[in-house]
Amino acid sequence: MIVLKFGGTSVADAEAIARTARIVASRIGKGPIVVVSALAGVTNSLIGIAEQAAKGHLIGALRAVEDLRERHLTQAEALLGDGAACAETSAELSAMIDELAHLAEALATLGDLTPRSLDAISSLGEKMSSLLCVAAFVQQGLPAVHVDACEVMITDATYGRAEPDAEAIAMACRSSVAPLVREGKIPVMGGFIASAKGTGVTTTLGRGGSDYSASLFGAAVRADAIEIWTDVDGMLTADPRVVPDARLIQQIAFDEASELASFGAKVLHPNTIAPAVRLGIPVYVLNSRRPEGTGTKITFEAPKRAVTAIAGKTSVTLIKVGSTRMLLTEGFLRALFEIFERHRTSVDVVATSEVSVSLTIDEASQLESIVGDLRALGDVSVERNRGVVAVVGGAIAEGGVSMARALGALGDARVHMLSLSATRINLTIVMDDEQVKPAMQRLHAAFFGNESVLS
Ligand code: ADP
Ligand code: ASP
Ligand code: MG
Repeated sequence: MIVLKFGGTSVADAEAIARTARIVASRIGKGPIVVVSALAGVTNSLIGIAEQAAKGHLIGALRAVEDLRERHLTQAEALLGDGAACAETSAELSAMIDELAHLAEALATLGDLTPRSLDAISSLGEKMSSLLCVAAFVQQGLPAVHVDACEVMITDATYGRAEPDAEAIAMACRSSVAPLVREGKIPVMGGFIASAKGTGVTTTLGRGGSDYSASLFGAAVRADAIEIWTDVDGMLTADPRVVPDARLIQQIAFDEASELASFGAKVLHPNTIAPAVRLGIPVYVLNSRRPEGTGTKITFEAPKRAVTAIAGKTSVTLIKVGSTRMLLTEGFLRALFEIFERHRTSVDVVATSEVSVSLTIDEASQLESIVGDLRALGDVSVERNRGVVAVVGGAIAEGGVSMARALGALGDARVHMLSLSATRINLTIVMDDEQVKPAMQRLHAAFFGNESVLS
């Protein structure tokens, strides 16, 4: 069995879905399980509708709802013609859009958008795309069947970024997904969406979470491979939107890919690697517009390079806690990290000195309460609008030459914090937000200026 995940651009319209069907057909002998994202941009629209409705702007929200209806029905017609299959799929899609309109009306009345109602709305993109894809695949002669991902992807009730229950998912996959594959069928599921154990209420895995769905399903059925089909040739030496001459990495180690994903390489959701690495399942990143490409293979046995790639992210918050009295005394760091745990906020980069601890967080929704609690430990300062650049490579820390080159390439960027990960594969530099892109470009030029494709 293999899991194929298609991102938003790979199912953006009828043409893209037809291309996707051909890729699935080319894998038919391998027992494919298909995971799809919402059509490109739909999740953003859904979130926009929810926010607009909750602010009381119902007319604008309903207009956007109708745009989504139009978009989905147009693609259904382009894929399915005007026969019975089209009528059936269009009726199902329309029923979901009606549900969306009702939810928007309810939000406008309540004037309050809870994470739970946001999940009810943002999940509709994958619910619709998976239905549309199944119908299109069947139309192309593939033995595709729809599986409701919410019945298989079981999580806790943390709406917006639910925690998967690996055991429950494995059980559900064994009983309702794997048998279909053994019968020669192709199960098609929406990524990103899930339901809470016990209650069955819809949850989601967080933005970009379809990659994570694919690896969780892959681990549950012990797939031979997980293929992430997207709009770039594979994992590249940097985000091509920032560094246009970024190059393809043909093979990369799990841990390096994981570091890159966590530090801004959006091509993979940061949680994607963990379920695959536990079972040694190779993950491939491939371009659905150029399926003949080799893509990137993520495995244990990848070449060790000084620097494999550069990643970066912005809108990071830097928190500094200073205390001459208590710092680094027994239990101080435990007390400090407990505060972040209590507020369910994960800490990213950490550095300590004799008199201060500096750390960064990505998710600042709980910042006020965190800072309130931290004040009991010492003086607290908060710096918003920071960014992080990560220089990732298996041999980055060997000899010091690469690190010297990395620091030399920073130019006039003001460095707020520096950290070398314990695995010695990630040199992380915290800087001003606006310095991230130029720093990535300079670092890329310094390390990849004259090299050819990486092996
Ligand atoms: P999908 O909808 O298929 O999940 P995403 O937009 O989530 O696609 O991820 C693909 C995008 O990730 C690419 O278009 C690219 O701009 C971005 N990206 C960031 N860093 C990298 C990298 N190191 N290699 C490849 N793509 C990257
Ligand atoms: N559709 C979801 C999002 O846009 C999940 C995904 O695409 O991976 O975040
Ligand atoms: Mg994605």
